[in-house]
Amino acid sequence: MIVDRLNRPLGSLRVSVTDRCNLRCRYCMPEQEYVWLPKQSILTFEEISRVVRVFTALGVEKVRLTGGEPLLRHDLPTLTAMLARIPGISDLAMTTNGLLLAKHAESLRSAGLARVTVSLDTLRPERMRDLARTDRHADVLDGIAAARRAGFAQLKLNTVVMRGVNDDELVDLVDFGRAQGAEVRFIEYMDVGGATGWSAEQVVSHREMLDVLTRHYGTITPIRADNAPAERFRLPDGTTFGIIASTTAPFCRSCDRSRLTADGSWLLCLYAEQGIDLRAPLRNGASDADLAELIAATWQGRTDRGAEERLGLAERTPLFKVEGLRADPHREMHTRGG
Ligand code: SAM
Repeated sequence: MIVDRLNRPLGSLRVSVTDRCNLRCRYCMPEQEYVWLPKQSILTFEEISRVVRVFTALGVEKVRLTGGEPLLRHDLPTLTAMLARIPGISDLAMTTNGLLLAKHAESLRSAGLARVTVSLDTLRPERMRDLARTDRHADVLDGIAAARRAGFAQLKLNTVVMRGVNDDELVDLVDFGRAQGAEVRFIEYMDVGGATGWSAEQVVSHREMLDVLTRHYGTITPIRADNAPAERFRLPDGTTFGIIASTTAPFCRSCDRSRLTADGSWLLCLYAEQGIDLRAPLRNGASDADLAELIAATWQGRTDRGAEERLGLAERTPLFKVEGLRADPHREMHTRGG
């Protein structure tokens, strides 16, 4: 097992398969115009599975497909099947906004995808119009239903909570999750690249969320931490939910995640200034052993604690300004793959 300078293993890899997205969520893609990664730079399925194979040989067990919106990548079940065949992956999952999930849930499940997380920030279609600039709320609900029917294990729903936007829906979302057999995870609004409208006032802390839910449901019991980054809780009736407190209570010390962008840039931290280019060696004849050596040496030197460093700042503003994001779209959350 390879560990970094803070003794954190190389455990999980998030693979962004496209930087394109069919939503424009206010907390992620609030601008009118974006700079996209050039088409020829996007890794092929063969390149992605080769890199993932090298990562798994170094200890990565959990792989999550993400984006942008991963279901915008043509023929994703084919990539899923290629990844599902790699020995050493114990958990193959995907995070999606759900818009296209109804169409693809069954073929993804048959291809070997084990788990799905669907982003669902509101139960109100008109609110989604304002928050994500889409009229397709019903498609997300259809996607969630299709995922249930397809039999994915542990269906999860991700909700980014923003003050004055959707923080009055915590109870409704927990109740919806219970009815759907899905676990809701409330995510604190993060000051990541792309969140150009971020302000500390809009962050609803995990403490506040717990207070609201306790007032409604009664005593809430923490569940043993087996599932970082989410802290998980149980309601008196047994319903469980999670909170991801990356902004007010970061978990850098146990962070075993890294991220691969669709064009092969490898990021050691969501807040990193830049990534390590794996596409160049991949396309310039590097052997698997060369790639493994580069990845291992880089991970062994890792000291990143991005979210904790952000917490230590006296004044906190968005990570990058719009001009900085346009100059290098690798800084965008939708490129880094949330
Ligand atoms: N398109 C897919 C989706 O919507 O789930 C996958 C990519 S998206 C970037 C991955 C996750 O990042 C989503 O759950 C999204 O809500 C979360 N996210 C994006 N921007 C965020 C922010 N500023 N703060 C917290 N979470 C954020």
